[in-house]
Amino acid sequence: MTAEPLLEVTDLVRHYPAGKGLLGMGSSKGVVKAVDGVTFAIGPGETFGLVGESGCGKTTIAKLILRIEPPTSGRIMFDGRDVARLTGKELLAYRRSVQAVFQDPFGSLSPRMRVADIVGEILEIHTSMTPAAIATRVGEVLDLVGLRPDQARLFPHEFSGGQRQRIAIARALAADARMLVLDEAVSALDVSIRAQVITLLEQLQADLGVSYLYIGHDLATVSHLADRVGVMYLGRLCEVGDSVTVSTDPRHPYTQALFASALPHLPDDADAAREVAVPVTGEVPSALNPPSGCRFHPRCPLAEARCSAEEPVLVQVDEAHHAACHLLPLTVGRR
Ligand code: SF4
Repeated sequence: MTAEPLLEVTDLVRHYPAGKGLLGMGSSKGVVKAVDGVTFAIGPGETFGLVGESGCGKTTIAKLILRIEPPTSGRIMFDGRDVARLTGKELLAYRRSVQAVFQDPFGSLSPRMRVADIVGEILEIHTSMTPAAIATRVGEVLDLVGLRPDQARLFPHEFSGGQRQRIAIARALAADARMLVLDEAVSALDVSIRAQVITLLEQLQADLGVSYLYIGHDLATVSHLADRVGVMYLGRLCEVGDSVTVSTDPRHPYTQALFASALPHLPDDADAAREVAVPVTGEVPSALNPPSGCRFHPRCPLAEARCSAEEPVLVQVDEAHHAACHLLPLTVGRR
């Protein structure tokens, strides 16, 4: 990323107190560390991918950026402004600029509303356009996402899954959003439909210059769509870098393990990843009181004594490529 960042996330933390039992009585059972010190930035027109298994904290990050929940600590800056301090018209402008597309378009589109109203609603909220101008704009954005303007009169159930996701994208872009948070936005689609929606997202970005935060568990899809990628494990980033570099030369054992499970989908030039990939076993530990030291140590095939005692920090392993592992010289040497 060379331009000034549009979105800057710095040392972001979101902890939840664990349940205290019936009616809040009894002592706290600990702290769920859903997000625990995450830093990244996204430039104008750039796609940053967040990838990791279920429960790693990536969707919590989306909620914090969308101001659905407040962070426990840390800072989110958008276009130079502290998101936590926005109120009134500034907060409304932020909500207009940063829109979301979720995994399940059927769940996020009201079944009782026509597409014209679903897409037009956001223009009613964020602009002073006349009903006629809104209808014209709805037709424009439907055309933009590959649907026909006359389909605005239909209801969501009259569309296929891929078309419904196109409607969700049209709604997100209708009021000239500058950033889309795409939370598993293509995960529920069939492979061929998924490829079409990814191509659409790439085309829209090229035409409109919109930025994407793409969140997913499928490393192949995230690496394909993103310019840079961050790999999350139990609330922390364990590797960050250019998506081509991370996919062809992963340095963290967890990233290598993710690649091991995605080997059939790896690009042809990912030989280094194939060499080092060791499948990881076992379940992700709970974010309630996560493992000491390196959080990955109970599942890491390379773990040694200090891994359970000392938490590794992100260090630079190459230009614009960072990873957090005590054995980085070894993993570098294994290339
Ligand atoms: Fe594995 Fe230790 Fe590196 Fe963690 S620090 S990824 S446990 S080798």
